[in-house]
Order: sequence, then C-alpha cells, then structure tokens
Amino acid sequence: MNYLMLVNKNNRLNKDYVPDNLTVVKNRKGDKPNLILLLDKVVYKKFLEMVKVAYNDGYDIICDSAYRSYDYQEKLYKELLKSKKDISYLAKPGESEHQTGLCVDIAAYQKGRYVDDPRKLEKEYKWLFNNSFKFGFILRYPKGKRHITGYPYEPWHFRYVGVLAATRIMNEGITLEEYLGKVG
Ligand SMILES: [Zn+2]
Repeated sequence: MNYLMLVNKNNRLNKDYVPDNLTVVKNRKGDKPNLILLLDKVVYKKFLEMVKVAYNDGYDIICDSAYRSYDYQEKLYKELLKSKKDISYLAKPGESEHQTGLCVDIAAYQKGRYVDDPRKLEKEYKWLFNNSFKFGFILRYPKGKRHITGYPYEPWHFRYVGVLAATRIMNEGITLEEYLGKVG
C-alpha cells in the first residue's frame, strides 16, 4: 500500500479500485450498528493507538466514516444532488479519498452521548490538530487551502500518510499536494 497515494479532483481512482487490506473497524457496541466501517489494516492500528491516547487526554473520539466504495460514493453524490444541499464537501465518485481506506471522519462521545455535529466537536478537533501527526495522520483539508486541495476546511477528516510525512506536513502547515510537489 502506498500511504502517500494522492486522490483529488485531478487524481481520480477507477471504479474498480478497492484497497487490498481492509479490516473491520470495531467501534464500541452501540455505535452506528447498521454500518460496517472498513479501514486499511495499518491505518486502523494507528487509529486505535490515537484513540487510546486521546481518551487518556479526555477526548472520546470514534471513527464515523472510513472506506467508501466507488458505488457508495456515487449513491451519496446522487442523493446530495437531488437534495439541493451544499455539495462543496462531497466528492464525486472516484475523487473521494475515502475510496483509499486511508482516511477517517471523526465523531465523538461526550458524556456518553454520540456527537457528530461539527459545532460541538471543536475541542476534539483541536486535540486532533495538535496530536494526530504523532500517529501518522494529517488534517487533510485545512483552512485557506481550498485552491490546492479542492475542498473547504474539514476539521473532522484525517488522512494517514505515515509519521514522517505527517510530522512535516503538520509542522509546516502544508497540504499533501504541496508535500508531494503536485499542486494543480
Ligand atoms: Zn471525510
């Protein structure tokens, strides 16, 4: 697996692309019971390490979205188009990083209650912003980088790139595109 794989509006994945080492994410009992979440094995292991440290720091984060197949992304995209809601956050099928199995959207428990409203997760996002690189994750769509990443600020979306790349990307405040020298 190439953990530095670049997927965006200029670098699309085939309809057939399925990562080869997906594993089932075991969120705690009661979390989204009808949804099976899958992640790359290494990414999942590092995610669990991060969850544990976050928990000890007082933040009960969980994985809210992980791998999405091309077909599933297509379904989401069509539904959103129909709904006439804001589509700036949602990728077209083939352009979603979620098809790589290398990224997670984060939600959390607060006093035992499941929370996925971004307005209520600022503390968790801040913790992730400051600490996720230690586990190889980056904030993939930072503020003010839409002209490079193609997406507005997404404080919940973290992408695994490995500790070395993540440390440089987060310390320098750059994007994966800039790190790889593939802007535009
Ligand atoms: Zn996401």
